[in-house]
Amino acid sequence: MRGRITPEVYNKALERSGGRCERCGIAGYLEAAHLIRRWKIEEWTTENDIAMLCGPVVNTGTCHNWVDYTAAGREWAAAYRYQLYEKAKE
Ligand SMILES: [Zn+2]
Repeated sequence: MRGRITPEVYNKALERSGGRCERCGIAGYLEAAHLIRRWKIEEWTTENDIAMLCGPVVNTGTCHNWVDYTAAGREWAAAYRYQLYEKAKE
């Protein structure tokens, strides 16, 4: 299943985030947000394809909503994903 986030991947991302939104740093309710469109994922979603962002996604003003529904948010997501993959190479 494309885009599926396994519990292992979710936990790795959560650990990386330190329990804070990876964009604004707020500690609180976090959701795993895809940094790339699900249909673009070739195989399995890795922890570098998602970010823990404040939610809920349906609320305007949260980072998850911003990433999913705005052009600027999608740009941020692509750049952040690139950073994560670069870090993973080290
Ligand atoms: Zn946030």
